[in-house]
Amino acid sequence: MKILFIIFSIIPWLIHAQTKYPTNYFSNPLEIPLILNGNFGESRSNHFHSGIDIKTQLKEGLKVFSVAKGNISRIKIAHGGFGKAIYVSHPNGYTTVYAHLKKFNNSIEEFVKKIQYKKQSYEVDLYLNTSDLKVFNNEVIGFSGNTGSSSGPHLHFETRKTVNQKALNPLLFGIEIKDTRRPVVNSLYMYKKLKSGSISLPYKVVLNKINDSTFATKKIKVNGLVSFGLSGFDRQDLAKNKNGIYEISTFLNENLINSMKFDSFFFEESIKINSLIDYSFFVENRKRILKLFLEDENDLSIYSTKNKGFVDVKQKTELLFKIVAKDIKGNSISINVPLDYENMVKATLTNSQGVSYSKKIENIIENDFEFKNSHVNIPKNTFLKNRKIKIEHPNDTLKIINPYIPLYKNIKIKFKNPNNNKGNYLAVKDYNNKELFASSKLNPLNYFELKTKKFGLYFIKNDSLSPEISPLNFKNGDWVSNKKYLKFKILDKQSGIKKYKGKINGKWMLFEYEYKKNLISYEFDSFYLSKSKNEVEIEVEDMVGNTLIKTFTFYRN
Ligand SMILES: [Zn+2]
Repeated sequence: MKILFIIFSIIPWLIHAQTKYPTNYFSNPLEIPLILNGNFGESRSNHFHSGIDIKTQLKEGLKVFSVAKGNISRIKIAHGGFGKAIYVSHPNGYTTVYAHLKKFNNSIEEFVKKIQYKKQSYEVDLYLNTSDLKVFNNEVIGFSGNTGSSSGPHLHFETRKTVNQKALNPLLFGIEIKDTRRPVVNSLYMYKKLKSGSISLPYKVVLNKINDSTFATKKIKVNGLVSFGLSGFDRQDLAKNKNGIYEISTFLNENLINSMKFDSFFFEESIKINSLIDYSFFVENRKRILKLFLEDENDLSIYSTKNKGFVDVKQKTELLFKIVAKDIKGNSISINVPLDYENMVKATLTNSQGVSYSKKIENIIENDFEFKNSHVNIPKNTFLKNRKIKIEHPNDTLKIINPYIPLYKNIKIKFKNPNNNKGNYLAVKDYNNKELFASSKLNPLNYFELKTKKFGLYFIKNDSLSPEISPLNFKNGDWVSNKKYLKFKILDKQSGIKKYKGKINGKWMLFEYEYKKNLISYEFDSFYLSKSKNEVEIEVEDMVGNTLIKTFTFYRN
């Protein structure tokens, strides 16, 4: 009896027990005051943001420090994504990641360059042994930049659990960001669970300010299962940036229904951002509503309970639904939503979507569609629930349409190449009428093959144009003795650039590619064998194999 009592009194404590992260272990990765233009867990396209984005005063080249001692466990250089990134594993079981760097420190540069020259590739992904490169606390490991898929100079900084690479909110480790501002909720929306089990369209509810921390709606008259969604942001003290909200909880008559909190998530979960936001609304309005209820496919680990978040408004009940939005410092606002029963159902809440999408896709089975000139395979669990799409292949275009549903897995498309003209490729037009290269990969049966999460219109195009190459910071025959770099503009106007190569005096040299600027550049390094007359050869190939090679002469002493 006594033991049972102890067990029962421990259980609630266990559920609420929080993982304790060391808050004195990590120092700051930059020596300037930390100002964020991105929060952990905030919504990005098809993923949650896995770290914090720290402003670098609109500059590149700021010193980036290892936040504790450890060893470099991974170095990845890619044209997109994190650009140049360093992963440091620390003896306390956590890994820190520093991304979009301009450059590494000298010893790391040297280590990486040797491998890049050996592999003859700018892009590398290196997993290191613990003894390869050790770092001290506060050692300069690199310099901040804007490499990869970054839209302005900043440092993307992450903390992860080393064993499983789970992304953890860096602000849980005591990194200090001045923040006395409350989160802001722009708009609140009501949703109703319809008899069919589907969810209604969002119905905007007016918010009235009571005081700085409290907002309320008028009494809402409704019946059945209802919940809410909101769009909002959080701001810290030193910048105007709109970052994500850390924690949102819902209450019914002061009892907790559910709360979502961005402390950690697994990268595999990240695509399920599309089950947290109202995806259809996002497609139409490019604005994200965070749903405060869970649909069946949403098994994200950010929730505190298994409650789905709906409340049942029945006859003779008066309920108070309450939403509390908090930042990591505890600044909060609350929204009171009084609910009252009413028999009438508002017409605005009915769901009219899916009417023209006639083909039902059973989600638990694999679906194959065979047309005269194409084949589409939709693997099971692509949508996480049954969906309706439009799929047909009249004339020359394969149409796979329903802009309102997210795909969680790749579908496979095969599309017959109509003739053997050089330069044919498969293109796709999305809902914004943007035309993109899709595939130039032909299988032995002369079909273009593609794996993609993109619905749209697929058709054949032809690219007969070669890429373009032009020197940027010198002219053919120039002396460049005082220049640190050789820079070229490379461009392909149709299918896009597949690969490029730069040689000096016949030898492969390390050219870095900055796709955002259509720029490749070589920095004179120890691999350059000094000669007065030099020949540089640039070769660029597009997605369909059109290749251009250009040679230039430069002099240097
Ligand atoms: Zn980032």
